[in-house]
Amino acid sequence: MSGALRLQGQGNGCGHATGPAHVAEEPLSPHGGRASPSLEFENLDRAIAGSVAALETLMAATDPDSADILEFQIEMLRDPVIGEMAAEQIGKGQNAAFAWVAALEEYIAGFEQSEDEDIRARAADMIDIRDRVLRALEGIPAADFPAGSIFIGRDMAPSLFLAHDWTDGGGIALEAGSTASHVALLARARGVPMAVGIGSFSVESATPVLVDGDSGLVVVHPNNADIAALTAAAKATVEIAPVFEPAGAPRSPAGAVELLVNVSGIADIRSLDAGACDGIGLLRTEFLISSAADLANEEKQFQLYCEMVKWAAGRPVTVRLFDLGGDKPLGGFGVGERNPFLGLRGIRLLLSMPVMLRIQARALLRAAAFGTIKVLLPMVTVASEVEDTRRLFEEEAAGLAQRHIAIGMPAIGMMVEVPAAAIMLDTFEQADFFSLGTNDLAQYLSAAARDNLQVADLHRQAAPALLRLIAQTVAVAQGMGKPIGICGDLAGQPEHLSSLIASGIRQISVAPSQLAAVKTMLAQAGMGG
Ligand code: PEP
Ligand code: MG
Repeated sequence: MSGALRLQGQGNGCGHATGPAHVAEEPLSPHGGRASPSLEFENLDRAIAGSVAALETLMAATDPDSADILEFQIEMLRDPVIGEMAAEQIGKGQNAAFAWVAALEEYIAGFEQSEDEDIRARAADMIDIRDRVLRALEGIPAADFPAGSIFIGRDMAPSLFLAHDWTDGGGIALEAGSTASHVALLARARGVPMAVGIGSFSVESATPVLVDGDSGLVVVHPNNADIAALTAAAKATVEIAPVFEPAGAPRSPAGAVELLVNVSGIADIRSLDAGACDGIGLLRTEFLISSAADLANEEKQFQLYCEMVKWAAGRPVTVRLFDLGGDKPLGGFGVGERNPFLGLRGIRLLLSMPVMLRIQARALLRAAAFGTIKVLLPMVTVASEVEDTRRLFEEEAAGLAQRHIAIGMPAIGMMVEVPAAAIMLDTFEQADFFSLGTNDLAQYLSAAARDNLQVADLHRQAAPALLRLIAQTVAVAQGMGKPIGICGDLAGQPEHLSSLIASGIRQISVAPSQLAAVKTMLAQAGMGG
């Protein structure tokens, strides 16, 4: 094993990978979505000017009828009143995307409600320019790295993970990081080998590196013996039956544990047959989108939810509203806070930005016309947050119905991940169902951050407190006659499965890569579907 540098960290249990190192540059600090109004003005101006230029190019090459439509769109883009309305929104603290959507909203509604058919038709032209400018605002995606390489860095942004194509293999070795962080959850969901907390070291890009996600070992310049040892170890592990079952029939008979999957993007489930599970137990919508402009894009969100509904083929799709802030600072939300984990995040942020919440609500109500969508509220602390969100969904449903747009009214449930909510569960009559988010519940119970390796042991040692609280919470939910499941990482940990079942949990949602193992364990316990 001469010449090989060996570093020990913690693994994510997803096998091993070997490849050329890609050494990441230190990330730039993210641009705050509401940080600088002058930057937002500038971004919007540039996006509008770019859209005008694109339409002018189209106009030059089109027939007179189409040119009329384009001319109208250009006129609207240059309309000083719309510009002023958007500027006013930015002045109030909105980012460019939401300011733009808010400025156009009244116009679009006015056109849609007109008695005159020609004017009504103009609504579609306005929606078109709204979305054109949103696309222009999407910004520059993070620089990708070569497929099949081993990403090496201090930490890794979830957006970078999501933008990368992992189908050609590769792995991740992080100097810091934590196995409970979001990027670790994403890697586990896709089965990408990862080691965290390996400490700082120096390696040139393109150097061969081996990452063993099972043991947390990272080897720089691995030799044949290193690779052979891992391959042999992988073969020796118990073979788990492939997750494939005939679609159609319900998977779980009465009394069995329902088994669902946690999903962060269509790539997580592309190779999974929906018949192998009971549906999607948690769709992390904040990872479906990649920019603040997407948060304002109802059409794009609607299409993404429809894709999930289509995959699920009649099974429930539990969609969590954007859980932004904290360790998920997309669009800059949460960036300026002194303690973002305890700040304006999850449902608190959404209710403070009703424009964003209303857009997501409309996309969900529309997608619910095509399948069983259930809506899950993140980071709920008090009952009024559920009541306010439900009211907002009802208002948006009424608005869509008035516009003759097909909708479904989803069940509205909540994550149980804030200790105050778990302890006071009986006060949440307005919630239709509950889902235990043990990643955050554990972090707030143990006062140990989920993304800090130095306190990861405390996080783990708080498991008995967590299990006791879960048992109490499940009993209260049962008394209320409301379904309660678990979608936090604890659900996929073999050592805790029997305690969860003993406490009355009958619905479990895990990463797709853990489905086969959990299914086997449930079958062994006589609780399988
Ligand atoms: C949780 O907190 O347990 C959870 C499922 O949500 P997330 O990991 O996305 O915060
Ligand atoms: Mg959470």
